Amino acid sequence: MAEEEEKTNIFDVESAASLVKDLRKSFGSGKTKSYEWRVQQLKSIIKMIDENEEDIVEALRLDLSKPQLESFVSEISMTKSACGVALKELKHWMKPEKAKTSITTFPSSAEIVSEPLGVVLIISAWNYPFLLSLDPVIGAIAAGNAVVLKPSEISPATSSLLAKFVEKYLDSSAIRVVEGAVPETSALLEQKWDKILYTGNGRVGRIVMAAAAKHLTPVILELGGKSPVVVDSNINLKVATRRIVAGKWGCNNGQACIAPDYIITTESNAPKLIDAFKCTLEEFFGKDPLESKDLSRVVNSNHFARLEKLLDEDKVSGKIVLGGQRDKTHLKIAPTILLDVPEDSLIMNEEIFGPLLPIVTVDKVEDSFDIIRSRSKPLAAYLFTNDKKLEKEFVSSISAGGMLINDTVLHLAVNTLPFGGVGESGTGSYHGKFSFDAFSHKKGVLYRSFLGDASARYPPYTPRKQSLL
Ligand code: NAD
Repeated sequence: MAEEEEKTNIFDVESAASLVKDLRKSFGSGKTKSYEWRVQQLKSIIKMIDENEEDIVEALRLDLSKPQLESFVSEISMTKSACGVALKELKHWMKPEKAKTSITTFPSSAEIVSEPLGVVLIISAWNYPFLLSLDPVIGAIAAGNAVVLKPSEISPATSSLLAKFVEKYLDSSAIRVVEGAVPETSALLEQKWDKILYTGNGRVGRIVMAAAAKHLTPVILELGGKSPVVVDSNINLKVATRRIVAGKWGCNNGQACIAPDYIITTESNAPKLIDAFKCTLEEFFGKDPLESKDLSRVVNSNHFARLEKLLDEDKVSGKIVLGGQRDKTHLKIAPTILLDVPEDSLIMNEEIFGPLLPIVTVDKVEDSFDIIRSRSKPLAAYLFTNDKKLEKEFVSSISAGGMLINDTVLHLAVNTLPFGGVGESGTGSYHGKFSFDAFSHKKGVLYRSFLGDASARYPPYTPRKQSLL
């Protein structure tokens, strides 16, 4: 009996096919296309959050020891804000956009109609497990799609909370959560979807893209990479380090896709910068950061071991200038700064995604641009400077998913900016109207009447008609 029950609980290719079939039926009924349905679902997401804030914070605490304030600001508020923007703008977004026509089609009018794609799949990651799951779902719903969400198994408390609440608050004939790991995701990926949005690492991004290619399904890949921070001299170092520390250790203890991954500064500026980091880190996290309640833990022992490997590589281990303490039992690593690690070290070649921050030094700050350009295009690139010329050069000559001058990570919160990578850091973008567009097809429609039926385009192509060309 127990075995039978277990069998029925397995989510395999067959279950995935039947789920997609059910959602296609709902989508085919047209219900998800109506403005009213979209608004109702978006309002229900806000209600779901408002009625369960404490449970959300607790799930994030269980998964990551995420500090309460961080959970409020970067998971709960940001998800609610995405919903709020969609609710406020939806009518406007859904409205067909007038387009100009040319003399060739005179008389005519044209418009661009946004239509939902159909049934879409969202696969999310563990580091911001609430936001990264619901933010794309909000875009998919706003655009009128049916949607399946597959949260990360690495943040199981948030995954199960999402499964429970989505079923309770949202229309389960069109919006569903499938929990699970590789087998479940693989079963989902065998199906034909109308779009897949995947958030996570590039290795799995390739698996997702290959699976999607079989069905010619378009993908958005929200990946990561090594996001550099260039620090010029003659700047307000106190403000700069506060903003770097907030974007690194104040964001899930470095486990954020746009967290500063490494710093480049001049050799002469490095000692002043390290002193400023020392003051700021102590001010924020105290003398014993392993005891700080304001730092998330490393998500699990695999990631802890991965970070230890970066830190313990022979050529790197003597380079720690700040921090370095670890507590394996509680999966905590103190904010750690390293100076002048070799370019061929693991820490300079893998995305760190944790509390370690190497500083690379150069002769002139301009030399930093070549270092960045010689690597894969990052998801974010940061520059701290007062020099307008340097700023202009940075923006025009460096390719990155997004950029921020004189701060870190905050560009993510500006919903009028597209959020996404370029090259190895991802493809496609979302947030605000870009989320609506990401899950819409832009259908060009030309309207003509029976007037102005110019005969010149019809055969027979007489010499007179040809002379008109
Ligand atoms: P993860 O381990 O949670 O994996 C992401 C998703 O992929 C999960 O839902 C997981 O079940 C699924 N998955 C894992 N292996 C799979 C397989 N073999 N086949 C199919 N699906 C599979 O998250 P992660 O990859 O460790 O996340 C960290 C990475 O994500 C970092 O590189 C980070 O920069 C990036 N990231 C990017 C963004 C962004 O918005 N661009 C946001 C967060 C994280």
